[in-house]
Amino acid sequence: MSTQSAQTPVPVFIGGEWSVPKTAAHTPVFNPSTGEVIAQTPMCGADVVDQAVQACEAAALDWAETPPIERARVMFRYKALIDKHFEELAQMITREHGKTIVEARGDVLRGMEVVEYACSAPELLKGEVLENIARGIDCDVIKQPVGICVGICPYNFPALVPMWMYPLALICGNTFILKPSEKVPLTGVRLIELLHEAGLPKGVLNVVHGGKECVDALLTHPKIRAISFVGSSPIAKYIFEMGTQHGKRVQAAGGAKNYVFVMPDADFDNSVKGLVDAAFGCAGQRCMAGSTAVAIGKAGDHLLPPLAEAVRSIKVGPTDRDPTAKMGAVISQQHRDKVAGLVDGSVREGAKVVVDGRTVKIPEFPKGFYLGPTVVDHVRENMTIAKDEVFGPVLNVMRFDDLEAAIEMSNKTIFGNGACIYTQSGKAAREFRHRIKSGMVGINIGVPAPLAYFPFSGWDYSFFGDLHLQGREGVMFYTRQKVTTTRWFRYGEGDIWHKE
Ligand code: NAD
Repeated sequence: MSTQSAQTPVPVFIGGEWSVPKTAAHTPVFNPSTGEVIAQTPMCGADVVDQAVQACEAAALDWAETPPIERARVMFRYKALIDKHFEELAQMITREHGKTIVEARGDVLRGMEVVEYACSAPELLKGEVLENIARGIDCDVIKQPVGICVGICPYNFPALVPMWMYPLALICGNTFILKPSEKVPLTGVRLIELLHEAGLPKGVLNVVHGGKECVDALLTHPKIRAISFVGSSPIAKYIFEMGTQHGKRVQAAGGAKNYVFVMPDADFDNSVKGLVDAAFGCAGQRCMAGSTAVAIGKAGDHLLPPLAEAVRSIKVGPTDRDPTAKMGAVISQQHRDKVAGLVDGSVREGAKVVVDGRTVKIPEFPKGFYLGPTVVDHVRENMTIAKDEVFGPVLNVMRFDDLEAAIEMSNKTIFGNGACIYTQSGKAAREFRHRIKSGMVGINIGVPAPLAYFPFSGWDYSFFGDLHLQGREGVMFYTRQKVTTTRWFRYGEGDIWHKE
């Protein structure tokens, strides 16, 4: 890839060659810490998508016939290269996304764990067999590739989310088209360069860039068989509906509203630490962000003073150059204003801002997209800030008299990604886990994002489809099963050599 500068278009990767597509439109990529433009994303259309599909088709047969152990060896070499370039990747994420270097390392690490999981390809791809389903008849199931698969990514995890997708798709013998977020395309491009250095054959994985036009071309292309999507819920729903209408298998992970329950018997030090990380890690731009503290009984009064103190001490700054900054800017000025506007609205609706980040500025970088950590208390369920996904550094606090009323409220949300409880009562924890309408639960843990070998298990408006990303469900999504039934004749009966 050529050296990136403010005016350089980010290249696409088709058939093993990097090139700049001749598209008219570009969208700027920013460094959120400074507000500077650092690259230009080309907004590809159907012509570029079609070239990528053709490259996949040309590489498909050979890759599908490659033994799983050889596909796994590519992943072993890839893992070693990610290790070698770990810091470079983390710095790239910090620069184009704005999260801290520590958070960026986590982004790479969690993605690399999927690569490690994919290294066990032969084990993951084994089928099943049952002898004697009837006398002399056996039945077996084998897993075969689906065909051309696509990954469409959000901006908030530039390394992790793409790596949720292509490592598993590839070890299953599929070819792949990756569309990184147009807001953070640089990390994805570097990850794919490394993958080819690891020995992935040309054309097996191709990269295109763009927005709606590009995505629509992917969703409707007749030769594409499966779509993995991660992003906001309205777009996830659209992707699911449009993709399935066009005969594709779709897994589409969407947005969230995650509640962190704090019981009066909780360990408050642990709860405050967990809440601060859950709400303000990655400046709240996580689908598993613990964006609402649900304080039960007297927990609210105990929690608020130490919580507010901890939040006020979070140092906001330019994460690409100040390693002491504990929280960075958000992705864009537009997003900053939207999140600040939700806080303004909550005040009009009667909530109380306890810690106000709306006035935070970094004088050296007046064009950076900064919004300080904010805590809004006395949020009620009919307020807009209680209903919409905020996706920024804002923690809502809601108060309830008992666990029953709190579970009832949180189960009304349309989303179903994550929920946590802080308590020392096994009874309360069990009741919570059993009844909460959420696919990923934490008990005395703030962000219960499952690791690579478990499904990333959103429910309801947080996930559209059947088979989730990661783990065995991920392998099932990227394979189709073939069942063979075989009748065997008894040994000795009718064999010519038996008679001789
Ligand atoms: P987004 O929905 O705006 O964009 C995601 C992808 O969809 C991008 O690649 C974008 O180019 C494409 N896109 C955007 N608008 C489109 C349209 N009208 N038609 C077709 N394609 C379109 O999401 P984002 O702002 O990049 O990411 C943040 C969202 O992602 C949050 O809602 C967050 O909760 C969610 N997210 C969910 C998970 C999860 O596992 N559930 C993980 C990470 C992020």
